[in-house]
Amino acid sequence: MDNKKAVENLDKVISKVEAARLRVSEHHIVKIVGISKYSSSQDVKFLYEAGQRAFGENKVQDLKQKSAELEDLPLEWHFVGRLQKNKINNLIDLNPTLIQSLDSLELAEELNKKLEAKNKKISCLLQINSAKEESKAGVMPEDAIEIYKKILETCPNIRLKGVMSIGAHVEDRETIKNSFKITKEIFDSLKVYGAKYCSMGMSNDFELAISCGSNMIRVGSSLFK
Ligand SMILES: *Cc1c(COP(=O)(O)O)cnc(C)c1O
Repeated sequence: MDNKKAVENLDKVISKVEAARLRVSEHHIVKIVGISKYSSSQDVKFLYEAGQRAFGENKVQDLKQKSAELEDLPLEWHFVGRLQKNKINNLIDLNPTLIQSLDSLELAEELNKKLEAKNKKISCLLQINSAKEESKAGVMPEDAIEIYKKILETCPNIRLKGVMSIGAHVEDRETIKNSFKITKEIFDSLKVYGAKYCSMGMSNDFELAISCGSNMIRVGSSLFK
């Protein structure tokens, strides 16, 4: 990727997001998080220069390396991958803007304990396995509300800000749409408990996700190609 390609890619994504969000409402604002997991710090820099500010990684080590290499830029970093217990302290020390992949009550309690010890708080999203896929992390949709409330009650160092989900991994658009609708319904029920973000939609399905109410999309390959 070069400078010009970064501008082109970002412009394309922004135009599509803009059209999709306006079909929902003028007031429906969608945040774009650039997932840089298959890309270099130089590519992140090109996208920054094109105007992008929020980026995400799925490995603690990669987040550490890229955020260090780009520490002079005013970027925000999200964590979107599976968090192993032995990496929790490393992740906390990187002060991520948002951990989007809190995928069990057990992990939340472990994270909370380590945050308490460091006297820190971190914003997180509860990951929901809306399509109930074996290969995916996240809580089952029928348990999501109960677990969300439990985390609010028992984990004061976690600032729970909403939900994240990965659309069903199939070709059929109706099945993908259904998985988004399930997540959106849970999000709506959680608004009274302070849920602000409904993070769903990736390169192949973000327009569909936005039409189903997503207000945060995680875009990798269409930005970094
Ligand atoms: C890789 C990844 C993305 C981005 O996927 P693309 O299809 O490349 O846009 C989004 N969310 C998560 C959790 C990811 O791991």
